Amino acid sequence: GQMMEIRRQNCNPVTMKITYYKKPMFIHQGHMQWLWDVDGRRYLDLFAGVATVSLGHCHPKVTAAAQKQLKTLWHTTNIYVHPTLHEYCEKLASYLPDPLKVIYLTNSGSEANDLAMLMARLHTGNFDIITFRGSYHGGTQQTMGLTSNMPYKYPIATSSGCTHTMCPDVFRGPWGGSHCRDSPVQTIRDCSCAQGHCMASEQYIGQLKETFATSVPSRIAGFFAEPIQGMGGAVQYPKNYLKEAYKLVRERGGICIADEVQTGFGRTGSHFWGFQGHEVIPDMVTMAKGIGNGFPIGAVVTTPEIAASFGKAYHFNTFGGSPIACAVASSVLDTIKEDGIQQNSHNVGTYLLTELAKLRDQHEIIGDVRGKGLQIGVEMVTDKVSRSPLSPEAMSEIFEDIKDMGVLIGKGGVYGQTFRIQPPMCITKEDVDFFLAVFNKAINNYVD
Ligand code: PMP
Repeated sequence: GQMMEIRRQNCNPVTMKITYYKKPMFIHQGHMQWLWDVDGRRYLDLFAGVATVSLGHCHPKVTAAAQKQLKTLWHTTNIYVHPTLHEYCEKLASYLPDPLKVIYLTNSGSEANDLAMLMARLHTGNFDIITFRGSYHGGTQQTMGLTSNMPYKYPIATSSGCTHTMCPDVFRGPWGGSHCRDSPVQTIRDCSCAQGHCMASEQYIGQLKETFATSVPSRIAGFFAEPIQGMGGAVQYPKNYLKEAYKLVRERGGICIADEVQTGFGRTGSHFWGFQGHEVIPDMVTMAKGIGNGFPIGAVVTTPEIAASFGKAYHFNTFGGSPIACAVASSVLDTIKEDGIQQNSHNVGTYLLTELAKLRDQHEIIGDVRGKGLQIGVEMVTDKVSRSPLSPEAMSEIFEDIKDMGVLIGKGGVYGQTFRIQPPMCITKEDVDFFLAVFNKAINNYVD
């Protein structure tokens, strides 16, 4: 108890908000979808360290690749050529469509987006950047300007030239038109509310055009969007929405950047990259998290043309593309194929979504179930008529109860009202059944 309190004071200053603050968790060990705390208690991990451990904790194949590299070469910096880097870049490029073939390696998603932002400005000669409301693109000072999700922003320290645009109700998930989003589960019913929550995708697109016409500068540098919003709460855009946004951005001279930090590497099940679900080809793709199964690595992939504009200065990054990171990331790509990870994400994700939708129909406080593959959001409300977000206290109560029953999930959404499930993609249907029983029990405990 006392030890825990001391550690808590030392390791958890006010800016660091650990999730289980009532009873902090000390995680000690991991294997695939399982974690153990210091007391030896086992947890089913359905959040993967914020959607990062995509293949499983200490996955044997990835661990072996890391160990091999650790004995060979740790570090050179990119002033030398090392085969691990070049082999990896070639492999990664083969997963992307033409002309996305030039790769810059970084150490995190924020760093990748920061770099993409610079490249967009250099290439276009424009300054303004557009993102969607509810977005999260990083925690560095520049990327904080891209991030619209309020809890992650400081009031004055963000960069200029970033505008957040969006039709508000898209971002709590449209409940109405089932045609609106690309998910195995449809919305609960045709809500006949008068607040305009339930428009058809054409109407949402109309709003988007209007927003661009009225509040987006005529020349812009770039546009960042997550193919499915992560921290925003597994928010999915209406059909053709992103495609239309790309068109509007390109009309203003801007380049389109897909932030695949959460959606990449098979997470959405049906596609390797999230953008493929929107019938668009970005000018730049940024990635991190699942790229290294927990090892720090990120990347920006772009076109030779954009890379040429960037080539005017000398770009240097000490750790970016380290031999260890490249060996790990290379093994991640191989393992996704060998373990059938994307297919499993699709199969288990579809099963989980379908079963969650049944729970939604039974419980007044589950407002919406959405997502694709193993990027899933469960939006909690006080009731289905008012759609008011469940309070942070109530969310915490359910969340901690789920943990006490042995399952770790995530939280997100602009009001903190959405539970998020983005597990290691090796989970099974049996794991899902266990979670569903726990979730159902936690809701009953709360309601009773
Ligand atoms: N983009 C998205 C979509 C993210 O979810 C995150 C992290 N949550 C980032 C960028 C930033 O990545 P990192 O924390 O590795 O800097």
